[in-house]
Amino acid sequence: MTVTPIFCDPLWVSVCCKNEVCALCGQQANAKVIEVIQPDDPFSSRRAMTGYLCANHFLQLMGPSAVMAVEEYRNGLLCDNEC
Ligand SMILES: [Zn+2]
Repeated sequence: MTVTPIFCDPLWVSVCCKNEVCALCGQQANAKVIEVIQPDDPFSSRRAMTGYLCANHFLQLMGPSAVMAVEEYRNGLLCDNEC
């Protein structure tokens, strides 16, 4: 699957991602991904795994619906600013 790099100029990066790099490509991280441990996990008391991803790898992880949602959001922002 190819994801269009729509976050070339990110609007916002959380302070939690400052000085963090994407685990897959080494670029500035834009998203912190945290595992949700389900109550029926046989080791539910363990610490959740976390990782950092750049925006494009985050969208690859989340899939096409995330890409569409972000595009709709950004188009809405552009319309709000230009209309
Ligand atoms: Zn990346």
